[in-house]
Amino acid sequence: MTTQDYIQIEEKYGAHNYHPLDVVLTRGQGVWVYDVEGKKYLDFLSAYSAVNQGHCHPRILKALKEQAERITLTSRAFRNDQLPLLAKELCELTNYAMMLPMNSGAEAVETAIKTARKWGYKIKGVEEDKAEIITCENNFHGRTTTIVSFSTEKQYRDGFGPFTPGFVIIPYNDVNALEQAINKNTVAFFVEPVQGEAGIIIPDEGYLKKAYEICKTNNVLFIVDEIQTGLGRTGKLFAYEHEGIKPDIVVIGKALSGGCYPVSAVLSSREILGVFKPGDHGSTFGGNPLACAVAREALKVIVDEKLPERSAELGEYFLNKLQNLNNNHIKEIRGKGLFIGIELKPEAGGARRFCEALKEEGLLCKETHENVIRLAPPLIITKEEIDWAYEKIEKVMNEL
Ligand SMILES: *Cc1c(COP(=O)(O)O)cnc(C)c1O
Repeated sequence: MTTQDYIQIEEKYGAHNYHPLDVVLTRGQGVWVYDVEGKKYLDFLSAYSAVNQGHCHPRILKALKEQAERITLTSRAFRNDQLPLLAKELCELTNYAMMLPMNSGAEAVETAIKTARKWGYKIKGVEEDKAEIITCENNFHGRTTTIVSFSTEKQYRDGFGPFTPGFVIIPYNDVNALEQAINKNTVAFFVEPVQGEAGIIIPDEGYLKKAYEICKTNNVLFIVDEIQTGLGRTGKLFAYEHEGIKPDIVVIGKALSGGCYPVSAVLSSREILGVFKPGDHGSTFGGNPLACAVAREALKVIVDEKLPERSAELGEYFLNKLQNLNNNHIKEIRGKGLFIGIELKPEAGGARRFCEALKEEGLLCKETHENVIRLAPPLIITKEEIDWAYEKIEKVMNEL
């Protein structure tokens, strides 16, 4: 079957809730992926930073296979021998006291919301059903009905109401707005350290720290969504570390499994996650032994291969190189670690056509919003591969 055959079948039988580039991938190894025609591409999206460790990492695959042959799912009705070890290793690595395992990122976000609300009622003493959570404009936290209730992206909400109340939306990168939005019912401020989906929007230095201090002063939980920025992407294990703070709750997913399986988690203190009592919350697959074995190895790979350090070093190298791109289409280039956005001028005709041209050159990127090309390769990428990618980007920028 050809690329077009696969596309036609998918278009016919699959719901059209995505607009993918027309490349049909069948195999991946490290930073490289291969399509059904045998053509090779450098992956510059990493499945939205889920494959920071690279495709089909041999150590993670080995853990997956070995665990799959022992036991895959017990449900939390019984205990398994992998969850305790993941919980311990994850908490020791991140310096949090407790974790709660889920599957997708959105489920972990929902869990963080439930945690904050319950903490508000049981510990802060907020009046029943009055809890408010402050979020930011242009956020991306997932696609459930509650999460799109505080999205400011029209398309994410259109046709999906009625929405969950209890969310207040303020501008990103604005500490005064945060200070003003807080009242006695505020239980949490929920923020992305870098807004990835919004187009790699990096807030001013000191913003997160100041916001954190405002939360501390007002007995409001500071919650970061590190699903995309976390686990090495921005050059630290977590992006909040750039500001020397310790959020009350951290939400992780994506690279927690190296892309081999859906695994997400919420990290927090004993006091905060301690609000959950048996029966309050759960998930059939959350904390399953296959997920936990995969996540344990995926975390070890991040540490052993020094992926945050690589991201910092190669990100700086790449960003400096890109800053030399002297091209009329470019409005701004910004990044933190290997999390880089090229924002094009509105008159450049949209980022999509650049991504399509890059695909022809063997580089897979995805536009985010209209005008930003996101560059986020697996963190195992080499300097030579970055140089190769740079040449393709330069060529396409100059040709279009
Ligand atoms: C991807 C993502 C999510 C949602 O994760 P899913 O696994 O797709 O549900 C939430 N927040 C951020 C910042 C993300 O990048």
